[in-house]
Amino acid sequence: MPELPEVEVTRRGVAPHIEGRAVRDLVLRREGLRWPFPPGLADALRGRTIAATGRRGKYLLIHFEHGTLIVHLGMSGHLRVLPPGIPAEKHDHVDLVVEDTGGQQVLRMTDPRRFGAVLWHANEDGDIEEHALLRGLGVEPLGPEFSGELLYRESRSRGAAVKQVLMAGDIVVGVGNIYCSESLFRAGINPRTPANRISRARYDRLAQAIREVLAEAIVQGGSTLRDFISVNGQSGYFQQSYFVYDRAGVPCRVCGAPVRQIKQGQRSTFYCVTCQK
Ligand code: ZN
Repeated sequence: MPELPEVEVTRRGVAPHIEGRAVRDLVLRREGLRWPFPPGLADALRGRTIAATGRRGKYLLIHFEHGTLIVHLGMSGHLRVLPPGIPAEKHDHVDLVVEDTGGQQVLRMTDPRRFGAVLWHANEDGDIEEHALLRGLGVEPLGPEFSGELLYRESRSRGAAVKQVLMAGDIVVGVGNIYCSESLFRAGINPRTPANRISRARYDRLAQAIREVLAEAIVQGGSTLRDFISVNGQSGYFQQSYFVYDRAGVPCRVCGAPVRQIKQGQRSTFYCVTCQK
């Protein structure tokens, strides 16, 4: 599943190819994905210029003067920039065709499992941050509002395990299963610790670890960026070398104790009982 770093790398990869370009056409090959496509969407976009791209959590935002296209990659979706004329295959559901110097380029959305989304938010409906899908989201982990102080303050009334509190996404977005396990390892915090029992100093370390883990994933993804924009590029989800994630029973890279796997809220958590207290 694409996580925040993949979405950010996708945004950075496609941005230079679509920002400032006018939309020639929008081709929708189905009625919708997770939700129906908005009626009249192609008409709303044709001839309009893409002002900028953005991201909120795992939502990619394509801003126009009159509104914002909200794209979610679901479980299996990805975007590629292609030259025109490449036939769509079975799972290629959406093409955003933009003007290019002397021609066109195609931003193609492929989504085999069809849990993705393409939605429209018109400016006249209010601030994009107030969209139903966005307004409950926590702060951006790589943004200025995120800090150990925020984690500490927001967790005082939460006695659930810190991993589940982080993954709920209403304090901070984008700390998915992989990055949550890795960040807690890096901060030396046992994922089962009740969130309201963790000190301010340890939350400072955790916030720092979350920033580092996500930033490193983005840098690593950036090195595979070419895959996003090539004709033959595959999904572009990147494999990193993890400290604990998906390493059950394997010696911890720091202390050598076997990495333990447990279930928390139906999700697998990986951690080191020696390094994480
Ligand atoms: Zn260890």
